[in-house]
Amino acid sequence: MAGERILVVEDEENLSRALEYNLRQEGWIPVCVNSGEDALFFFKGSHFDLVLLDIMLPGLSGLEVCKRIRSLSRVPIILLTARSLEEDKIIGLDSGADDYITKPFSLGELKARIRAHLRRVGGKEKLIHGDLEIDPARFQVLKRGVPLGLSRKEFQLLLELAAHPGEVFSSDRLLKRIWGDSIVDQKTLQVHIRWLREKIEDDPSNPKFIKTVRGVGYKFEDRP
Ligand code: CA
Repeated sequence: MAGERILVVEDEENLSRALEYNLRQEGWIPVCVNSGEDALFFFKGSHFDLVLLDIMLPGLSGLEVCKRIRSLSRVPIILLTARSLEEDKIIGLDSGADDYITKPFSLGELKARIRAHLRRVGGKEKLIHGDLEIDPARFQVLKRGVPLGLSRKEFQLLLELAAHPGEVFSSDRLLKRIWGDSIVDQKTLQVHIRWLREKIEDDPSNPKFIKTVRGVGYKFEDRP
């Protein structure tokens, strides 16, 4: 696993720097911010695979940031908490966090937790939605047991959407995620979505898997 983008929200400068250095050493891409407001701004403007979130922040609290991110996305969120009070943990998990780690923590333990969450969401496990089976390890998609010939881009696009069912992806986010920095326009995305629908949908003009969210982008139906 490498290249995953991790949003680090931590106002203690020394800790933030240590996290940045250590996450980078693991091959991840940390983006560090020091306030809840910046965290939301960056989160909305880019794709992240995981969020490390300090609870005690100036201004908008970590818990509030957690709730707002959770209302937008199912991205794994690990809270960094200064206190180990049982109450704090419960509040943290209630606000939609997946995990928490109490300061002071060992970087080794933190990295192990991050790896576990990344594996859980972006791993090589098969995704099964209705009669569609997506196998990331083999780069293969089966429909009712029959392999579909998807191009690499079509596969990446499907995997990205299907790994986060119900989550709305803006066109910009999908373009950035699948095509990276190369300049392609919305039309390219629309064409790939159309090809993908022709392959995976029973009725491409009335798709049940990949839905268009008018004026925003696309989402993978969580209960197709
Ligand atoms: Ca803090």
